Amino acid sequence: MNAAADTSSSRARRVFVVSGPSGAGKGTLIRGVMKYFPSLDVAISATTRASRPGEVNGREYWFLTDEEFDAHLAAGDFLEHVDFAGNRYGTLLSEIDRLHETGRHVILELELHGALTVEEGSMASTLVWIESPDFEELERRLRSRASDTSEEIERRMAVAREQVDAKRHFQYVVVNDDQTRAIAELQAIIERELASPLVG
Ligand code: 5GP
Repeated sequence: MNAAADTSSSRARRVFVVSGPSGAGKGTLIRGVMKYFPSLDVAISATTRASRPGEVNGREYWFLTDEEFDAHLAAGDFLEHVDFAGNRYGTLLSEIDRLHETGRHVILELELHGALTVEEGSMASTLVWIESPDFEELERRLRSRASDTSEEIERRMAVAREQVDAKRHFQYVVVNDDQTRAIAELQAIIERELASPLVG
């Protein structure tokens, strides 16, 4: 029995963990389904990476210095945290609490290791893996984003290649071949999970 599942007050609150290689389209698919679920919100992660053009502190991420990140770590503020492609990322427990307190279901967009940490923890969650149809397409998408250096893209491709086997840990796999179709698939997954009893 999962601790998060055994009280009626927590019964309605879900945690969806959406993971997959950088560039697979996690953010786009998540944004695509949000309008169908007013009770669903994305938790804002903390990161030490530099903001990309157009990103706003407190909207895409909480952009922290290494020292600030360390202070949160020391205080035990993270549900999970990782070093990923040269930067640090973490989910603040306060973000999940804040959303759950307003009666929201939570989506966490995490890289693989963070997703597996959540799965192994005490919080009931549904894991969804999003992937590109193939590596060529993934690289094309990363390059078309034009915000990361070649070195960073290479690093992200190497991580993606290492993770091909990862999807067996996930309850659902969505291949982002066609955005409209993939959004509909993610929507159906969330609908199905929200309609089913929460089991720990
Ligand atoms: P990006 O730098 O492209 O925004 O994110 C890089 C990767 O970090 C993505 O796969 C994203 O899902 C993941 N990520 C973002 N926030 C978190 C977090 O709080 N924890 C973990 N484990 N991964 C995160």
